[in-house]
Amino acid sequence: MQTSHPLDLSGKVAVVTGGNGGIGLGIARGLAQAGCQVAIWARNTTKSEAAVAQLQALGADAAAFQCDVTDRGSVQAAAAATVAQFGGIDGMFANAGIGGGGRVSFLERQPEDWAEMINVNLYGAFHACQAALAQMKLQAETGRRSGRIVLTSSIADHFGTAANEHYALTKAGLSSLARSISVEFARYGVTANALVPGYTETEMTTSLFESDKFTKAVMPRTPARRFGTPEDFAGIAIYLMSNLSAYHTGDSLVIDGGYSVN
Ligand code: NDP
Repeated sequence: MQTSHPLDLSGKVAVVTGGNGGIGLGIARGLAQAGCQVAIWARNTTKSEAAVAQLQALGADAAAFQCDVTDRGSVQAAAAATVAQFGGIDGMFANAGIGGGGRVSFLERQPEDWAEMINVNLYGAFHACQAALAQMKLQAETGRRSGRIVLTSSIADHFGTAANEHYALTKAGLSSLARSISVEFARYGVTANALVPGYTETEMTTSLFESDKFTKAVMPRTPARRFGTPEDFAGIAIYLMSNLSAYHTGDSLVIDGGYSVN
């Protein structure tokens, strides 16, 4: 009798918001390599088309849906289009986010900065998770009890971010949201966890990584002696999406090369 590998994601459908670059694309590529069908939700269609081409080159069934996660209607339309194309949603990797865009003293920080950060990082995850969970609940009623919510938080949740406080607080909110969702939706077979990346080389961190001061401060504190790359998030994404993680919920999984230990 032939049995499939426990990390084989064939037949599952995952959405990755912000999956057209950086950590999101690392997640999407991992899922694709494990046989998952992948829907990318992001705004930039040129980047999204290039990302889908990468996933298809890996043999995956993948598509992109233009979506601004801050726009509830846009999210609902992307969810409907994803279900129409793939027949359901088993995983929501709510990963789209913005960084602080540089250090500004808390005393100078503008309310508009806070509003934008909260709108993208928190309301964006709210809209995306709500759309996905409504679908996962429907699916559970017909025996498809395999829902997965994965929220991209940050080690900023643990350490804070001086002169960029609004970023850290949204990331703390996402870890908390994962724990909260894990309770209400366990009855539908849904797990909810936070993914907690350390410093990772992406478009968001380009200017940070160009700074010698930053590298000199962070590298000695990082036991792995390198910064993260998007590929470092493939393995955890496959595990969280698989049936092997069915009893693993309400957790925050740190992927930071050991930075948090020091
Ligand atoms: P990138 O800038 O490479 O990726 C951000 C992604 O979010 C893009 O795909 C972008 O796509 C998407 N996005 C941004 N705003 C919206 C929006 N309104 N609607 C839909 N999609 C949106 O950064 P990273 O890969 O580094 O960041 C991914 C996540 O990881 C973020 O949540 C970030 O906070 C988190 N993180 C990153 C760390 C790092 O060191 N890089 C460390 C810890 C956490 P598009 O512009 O096409 O919409």
